[in-house]
Amino acid sequence: MAGTEQELLIRTAGCGELTEKDASEGREVVLTGWVHRRRDLGQLIFIEMRDATGRLQVVFDPSLHPDAHAAAESLRAEYVIGVAGTVVMREAPNPDHPTGMIELRGQSVTVHNRADNLPIQVADQQEANEEQRLKHRYIDLRRPRLQHALRTRHRLATAAREVLDEHRFVEIETPMLTRSTPEGARDYLVPSRVHPGKFYALPQSPQLFKQLLMIAGFERYYQFARCFRDEDLRADRQPEFTQIDIEMSFVTPQQIYDLIEPLIVRMFEAIDVQIARPFPRMAHAEAVDRFGIDRPDTRFGMELRDVGAAAESTGFRVFDEPLADPGGAVRGIVVDGAGGASRKQLDTWNGWAREAGARGLLWIKSAGGKIGSSALKVLGEERCRDILRALGGGDGDAALIVAADRSLCNQVLGQLRVRIARERDRIPEGAWNLLWVEQFPLFEHDDEAGRYVAIHHPFTAPNWDEVSRLETSPGDVRSQAYDLVLNGTEIGGGSIRIHRRDVQDRVFEALGIGAEEAEEKFGFLLRALDSGAPPHGGIALGFDRICAMLAGTDSIREVIAFPKTTSASCLMTESPAEVDAQQLTELGLKTLESRGKKGD
Ligand code: ASP
Repeated sequence: MAGTEQELLIRTAGCGELTEKDASEGREVVLTGWVHRRRDLGQLIFIEMRDATGRLQVVFDPSLHPDAHAAAESLRAEYVIGVAGTVVMREAPNPDHPTGMIELRGQSVTVHNRADNLPIQVADQQEANEEQRLKHRYIDLRRPRLQHALRTRHRLATAAREVLDEHRFVEIETPMLTRSTPEGARDYLVPSRVHPGKFYALPQSPQLFKQLLMIAGFERYYQFARCFRDEDLRADRQPEFTQIDIEMSFVTPQQIYDLIEPLIVRMFEAIDVQIARPFPRMAHAEAVDRFGIDRPDTRFGMELRDVGAAAESTGFRVFDEPLADPGGAVRGIVVDGAGGASRKQLDTWNGWAREAGARGLLWIKSAGGKIGSSALKVLGEERCRDILRALGGGDGDAALIVAADRSLCNQVLGQLRVRIARERDRIPEGAWNLLWVEQFPLFEHDDEAGRYVAIHHPFTAPNWDEVSRLETSPGDVRSQAYDLVLNGTEIGGGSIRIHRRDVQDRVFEALGIGAEEAEEKFGFLLRALDSGAPPHGGIALGFDRICAMLAGTDSIREVIAFPKTTSASCLMTESPAEVDAQQLTELGLKTLESRGKKGD
């Protein structure tokens, strides 16, 4: 039996790989790994040992192997050890644990390394606070949950790569140091030493490069692309993130769907979930009308409706004003079974509506034939009943109504719908609803800037038969963009691109990007479009988000090995950090001292 330190370095099995068969054969093995937990029971010392394959109980019995038992006395949590022993059946099995029927009878043990600096515990059920966990990420990552998350990420990446490879896609890397195109989010800038005063930018997406690869004749490209956006981070965003970036030549949206659907299906298979194809599709206008949002969660009902005629000529100012305005509406949702909702409950919903931007929420409820409403006095019982009915409700239900600008009604009710569904457990467990949203408008009007902006990006193709409207009614032109939505979360988006120079010029024009500016920023693309660009299109899938959802976690930080905080810092390496004066001088840069230091 192995016993020296060198011998106890060469593992012959993984903790999680051993089975009852090994026990029945009395197999002798060397295991290497970490002390997950240690328990002393009377004379016996139990070590739960952990390696990349899983965990196994090791027992040291002084009556059988006194030296090994004595050596095991010194073991503490997270020590790195090598153990030789025999696999046996357990006397007190634990069928809930994957290796709970067996254990290793330890015959010799060596400590490869101690763990004297252990600011957070690995085996504790109770997690340390996230700051501590991120600061000591290399320890946190040992936790089985995070191991599982990152291994799931790997399996999903492999599944996607397989499908893309089967479809003859070529993985091509595009530059990390590129040109700043401050269109969408803010760029991360990298100063150039060789060209003082000039800057590269880290890519927000490889969009233009992938289009250039189509012009270069590759026809099918993909990349697990790291993208960088210097935005004020919202709860679950990262300044750098990964997308599966895809582009194809000679395609229609249908062909993109025919590639992406099997790819998504294969990813789900990697977590043992079967998904039906084809995925349903919905026009953008319908999504907004029915769900208030362009990425609807279709796992439950509670759809938005117009109150319609029942809201007309009531003499009620709250209704009359928006209805007199062509952009106004009176819309609502029905919460079935909420006819007896308490005042407190209704106040909570009203609070949520205000948080979402409404001035207030109007409610009508009906229980046992008795109507209650925040507007009962003005509307009267009969009218309230009509409105409830118009929204699809009846006795026993409650209607929540917003009267305002149509887009505000949608925004408020769309958010309310999801919050209430969560609150009332209306979202079926284990449901995976995939949906293509298509026929987006090409532009939306930015009232503040007084101009149109691209909804997707300025390289997105308009519907080919609507090109003539680019100048006359740009707001009505629809694009050939599509989003893929999973359970109310956008997990991908893309479009057919503009492949003709004249159309690209006209779209820039409509966006208020003049010829000179277009030439300065995108001259290389415009020239490339003029040099034999094939029709092409593509998509980018938000890989971090997909991994988080499929690994069953709410946070993308759980599926990123070394994530940043919501204030874009890495607590482990303490980046961003100041740099030497010398480094700045070389770059020809000076910092504004007056701003002082900004802590995190
Ligand atoms: N480049 C786009 C994005 O990053 C995706 C695409 O149009 O393919 O959102």
